[in-house]
This record gives sequence, C-alpha cells and structure tokens, in this order.
Amino acid sequence: MVAISYEDIVKVPKALLHDHLDGGLRPATIVELAAEVGHELPTTDPAALGVWFAEAANSGSLERYLETFAHTVAVMQTPTALRRIARECALDLAADGVVYAEVRFAPEQHLEQNLTLDEVVDAVVTGFREGSALAAEAGTPIRIGTLLTAMRHAARSQEIAELAVRHRDTGVVGFDIAGAEAGFPPTRHLDAFEYLQRENFHFTIHAGEAFGLPSIWQAIQWCGADRLGHGVRIVDDITPGNPPVLGRLAAYVRDKRIPLELCPSSNVQTGAAASIADHPIGLLRDLRFRVTVNTDNRLMSGTSMSREMALLVEAFGYGWKELQWFTINAMKSAFIPFDERLRIIDEVIKPAYAELIG
Ligand SMILES: [Zn+2]
Repeated sequence: MVAISYEDIVKVPKALLHDHLDGGLRPATIVELAAEVGHELPTTDPAALGVWFAEAANSGSLERYLETFAHTVAVMQTPTALRRIARECALDLAADGVVYAEVRFAPEQHLEQNLTLDEVVDAVVTGFREGSALAAEAGTPIRIGTLLTAMRHAARSQEIAELAVRHRDTGVVGFDIAGAEAGFPPTRHLDAFEYLQRENFHFTIHAGEAFGLPSIWQAIQWCGADRLGHGVRIVDDITPGNPPVLGRLAAYVRDKRIPLELCPSSNVQTGAAASIADHPIGLLRDLRFRVTVNTDNRLMSGTSMSREMALLVEAFGYGWKELQWFTINAMKSAFIPFDERLRIIDEVIKPAYAELIG
C-alpha cells in the first residue's frame, strides 16, 4: 500500500463539525487587530505568536490555556473584525480541502463594544458568506453552517437558543453549550434545550471531554443532544476484552448512532487522551461508533483538518477507506437538511475517494 501523504489529504474533500471561531484566528490577523484596538499581546511577531499559542495550550496549565482565548476574544469585538475573522476562517478551511464545516462561537463573548447579540451573529454570518463566495471563485467551494454556543457557567442559554432560532434561515444551523464541565452540568440549561426541541432545532453539547460519563448521560438522556461535543470518555463505559463489552450508555450511544465529535490533538492537550496513538478513536472506530474527526481550536492546537487526519493515518495506519468513512460520518451527522447532506456525499465526497480507493 502506498503511504498517504499530508499533501494528498489536503486535496480530498473533508467535513468538519467541531471548530471554534475564536480558536482559529490567523496570528497575523490577531497582531493587526490588536494594534488597532490597543490590546497588548505576548509578542507582535506573527510567527512567534503562533508558537506562543501552541505552547500555552500545550503547557498543561488551564490558566495559560484560557489566557489564549482572552487574546483572541479581545480582538473580536467589532462587526468589521468579526466579519474579517469569519471570512478568513472560511478561506482557511476551504484551502485545506474542507467542503463542509460547522463553525461555532459564543455571541455573548463579543459584547464589550456594546454590540447587540443579533449584530454579532449578522457580522459572523456575513463573513462566512463572503469567505465562501471567495473560496468558490478560487475553485475550492465550501459550505459553512454556524452554530451558536452558550457558556455553561453563564445564565444566558435561553437567550442564545432564541437567538439561534431567530437566525435559522440566514445561516445558523445549530446550538451548543461549552465551557468547564465540572460543576456546570448541562441540566442547568434544560429550559433552553426543551425550547430548542419544541422549535425542531438541532443542538450538540460539549460533554465527556475532561469530565466523565455522567455529563454524557445528562447531555443525551436529560437534554436530548443530537451529537456529543467530544464524548471521548464514553470509553469509560466499555470494558476491554475480546470482544470489548459495552455498558448500557455506550450501547445506547452506538445503537442510536449518536455522533461523537472527537478532536484528537485537542483531546491530548486537555488530557482526555494520553497521546494520539492512545486516543480512544481507534477503539471507537473498530466498534463502529458514529465517529467524526475534528479540529476544535486550530490556532491553539497548531492544527488543521488535514493534519488531524494525517496524525490518525500515522498512528493507526488508516487508509483512504477509513478517511472516507470519517468524512461521510460527519456529513451524515451535519445539521443542514438531509437533501443537501446527500448531495455533498454523492456528488463531492464519494467520487473523490472512489478515484483513490479504486
Ligand atoms: Zn470544543
């Protein structure tokens, strides 16, 4: 078998469901925007700043990790900045061969200059639309769906859920909650989830990353999440052996085909997995859970969708068949309408991989 190179992976169509807008800025853009608003950075050299972000995220210190987001969020407080960052995000993903992406952000974190929540969403959605148009012109079309995130330690989830539904016809395709899991169970936001269900809307919940099975159980059985943001700790409900034995919750997640938004590099950085080679993605794929591969925070993890795929190829010896499987899993689990998902699978993804798989 011919080894798959990183350059080859860039060329094939990929689908991404879990990517944070405030975790994917270009270092050079941060430097420019910070100068405009007078925000002090650790360094104003873009290359050194990129390294600083990766090192802070790798340090194992939560304080330093959170400091990285203080810098990105600080330069994301005006419509012009938000629009530019969203536009560049679309272009960067498209250049990496991503044909479908759901990018999420928390509108409540972008109100320091007195914007309204609706103005924040409008700016980001406009930026995605502009970036997608430019990408199509460049011959790398991409479809982007926006997810609105509410912070789980805050008390605005109902407001953000209503905001997401208000913008459902102009680019917002789903809702999410994020932030520290411990001490902030998803059931604190039950009203928001019940509202979304009554509105026939889609949502994912960050659960089972650092924190264990109870947060996964709550996200699914109390809140009704369509997908699990990470969900990597579902392995705690699987007893190793030949064959491995699934507990009730793990069996439910697999039986119901509940998508797991796994983020290999990010999961290693946060300690949810010891290394890429030890990442439960290998086991979960073998057991045919609905596994998807994601980037989480491209800037902090110094990564891209192609790099995450390349790391898995290296660690697990995956070939094009497996990469296609991850990609189709993601597309099947997307929050856009079924006919659009099918079109991307049948007309974009399958023909491209068919050429490689033969
Ligand atoms: Zn995340």
